[in-house]
Amino acid sequence: MKKEENFSEWYNDLVEQAGLTDKRYPVKGMNVWPAYGWKVMRHIDTFIRQELDATNHDEVCFPLLIPETEFKKEKDHIKGFDAEVYWVTHAGLNELDVRLLLRPTSETAMYPMFSIWVRSHGDLPLKIYQLVNTFRYETKQTRAFIRVREIHFFESHTCHEDEADAQRQVEEDFVILEALMKRLALPYLLLRRTEWDKFPGAHYTVGIDTYMPSGRSLQLGSIHHYRENFSRPFDIKYEDVDGTQKYVHQTTFGMSERLLGAVVGVHGDDKGLVLPPDIAPVQVVIIPIIAKGNLEEITQNTRDLANELKAAGIRVQVDEGDERPGAKYYKWELKGVPLRLELGGRDIANGVVSYARRDTGEKGTVLRKSVGEDVEALLLKISQDMRARAQQRMDSSITTIDSLDDLPEKWLRFGWCGTEECGKKIEETADIKILGSPYVKEEFHGKCLGCGKETDTVVYAARAM
Ligand code: ZN
Repeated sequence: MKKEENFSEWYNDLVEQAGLTDKRYPVKGMNVWPAYGWKVMRHIDTFIRQELDATNHDEVCFPLLIPETEFKKEKDHIKGFDAEVYWVTHAGLNELDVRLLLRPTSETAMYPMFSIWVRSHGDLPLKIYQLVNTFRYETKQTRAFIRVREIHFFESHTCHEDEADAQRQVEEDFVILEALMKRLALPYLLLRRTEWDKFPGAHYTVGIDTYMPSGRSLQLGSIHHYRENFSRPFDIKYEDVDGTQKYVHQTTFGMSERLLGAVVGVHGDDKGLVLPPDIAPVQVVIIPIIAKGNLEEITQNTRDLANELKAAGIRVQVDEGDERPGAKYYKWELKGVPLRLELGGRDIANGVVSYARRDTGEKGTVLRKSVGEDVEALLLKISQDMRARAQQRMDSSITTIDSLDDLPEKWLRFGWCGTEECGKKIEETADIKILGSPYVKEEFHGKCLGCGKETDTVVYAARAM
């Protein structure tokens, strides 16, 4: 399993060997979440819920099925999803009068209800979210967590009095996103998508992209500002203080299990997963180092150590299996456990615990008496170092170019005049996808790679995963 040599094969093997997913379910692109993978995903979901709850969003749960009549209300939206939806055409033996579709996302499920819920300015802002499965018929080759047909999905939907308040929501989403990405130790860019690539029906879309070691980009999620594009067809109006009826301005923020795919791809190595401590089901594994005659002493000591760490809020497991220590190391490295502790006769005599970091392989000892604090500090350091290294790799991969000849398999940065004609020409010539211009404007002056005109607009492009 060599990440450098064949990223794609390495990724596909690793997600199964480490127990994150089981692809043997007999529907292509719909994988099973075995216990270990689901535990990791649940930690990610927990952080999403924490951040959303802390910013006054309410969690809700909408039905899976959407009537065709509602789905067709926003015409750009249906155009964007037409080829990707699954249809329910029968109920028992009866053909349905109005076909139902499995949600590919929930705008058209929620907005008929919003038009009932929102009455006056006192109902605004309305901020809700849900964590559910969505369905999209992907025709490209499927890949666990990254391109699947049943998607574990997070989506928040908000309604506001005006465009400025909706804009404030977009800015709040960026803060929520940063808190989450810190936990996942993932670097990312916020790129405003081109007009032809924005979400169907959106006023604008900001893509959240990270850099995969294969040289490709991976979209982790997106944030959309809809203005009144959905509230008009769905008739979501409120009575303002002066008694006039106004349409709400809306936003959404969506992310998916791709977050886990990014964690695997960005942090993993040839030995297996490297999980950020915040989402690792087991943060610390303790390996007893048994020698002749000290089985009982070591067993008792490792159990005491585990209990002490548990009391400090650390997710810890003692591996008391019969395998040799080397085999245990190998097993837990594959699972991505951030920190391994070893406890043998000599450690006990010296009043220390030995450790090995999963991310760097660095080994050392901490004092037995301060082990709780020291382990916590080590886990924090691991998380920070993982993100710094990933950030550094992403930054150093970004290459500013002034011609389309001999393109490296990297993230490309170049000038663009802003026209669709030039954009599409560049995408076709270079076989890349323009991800968009930085949401936070970057100082730039150069020439459009399509027409050669001077421009201050810089865009990022890459081959997408
Ligand atoms: Zn141009």
